[in-house]
Amino acid sequence: MQRRARLQYLDALGIASFVPRCAPPAVRLPSAADRSPDWQPLQAQVATCVKCDLHRTRTRAVFGVGNPHADWLVIGEAPGAEEDRQGEPFVGVAGKLLDAMLQAIGLSRTTNVFIANMVKCRPPGNRDPKPEEIAACRPYLLRQIAAIKPKVILAVGRISAQNLLATDVPLGRLRGRVHEFGPFATPLIVTYHPAYLLRSPGEKRKAWEDLKFARDFFKQNFVPGR
Ligand code: URA
Ligand code: SF4
Repeated sequence: MQRRARLQYLDALGIASFVPRCAPPAVRLPSAADRSPDWQPLQAQVATCVKCDLHRTRTRAVFGVGNPHADWLVIGEAPGAEEDRQGEPFVGVAGKLLDAMLQAIGLSRTTNVFIANMVKCRPPGNRDPKPEEIAACRPYLLRQIAAIKPKVILAVGRISAQNLLATDVPLGRLRGRVHEFGPFATPLIVTYHPAYLLRSPGEKRKAWEDLKFARDFFKQNFVPGR
């Protein structure tokens, strides 16, 4: 089924013949706590956080999902209605596309990637998160990054990319190169948000270019013997 979803995505991009060279390893997910002593306190603080007004309208805060030891960290924007209900990021329609995109470069939330958002609580009516909400939530994201120590960050969408890079430059001009983020100078690569791709399917090809760029960067820099 997962394979079919990937092939459908690749087919939509016109690259159905692409065959990933490395399947995701079947790793046992480590307990989150052995990543960093900060992990569990961080989860608890996010679950009960009232640092911005978004706490008033949320059903639950959405901490993130995946392998806290992952080399890859995907950062989206904010939970939507389905994420707010389930407490997991990217579980709605856009999330299905994100999973297919990640799978096309050998990544899966069940094995080798961690997925989080700029803000952990849903903005009412799915409006954009406000700058002050992003600022209030930022320390949590920074602590997640400090604990995970990802080798690559994939920023999906304008809100994520522009805020992480502290720039107004349009997303289209941030693509195709490796930026650096934060105190660890983590390589950061940007691409389009899957919700945007659903509205503008003509841009999927560019998203695929971004994913290949990210995959190749990772292989060249972090996979021994290549
Ligand atoms: N869009 C996002 O940016 N994040 C989610 O978790 C869901 C949709
Ligand atoms: Fe706290 Fe972030 Fe939720 Fe605001 S969005 S209440 S800062 S967890």
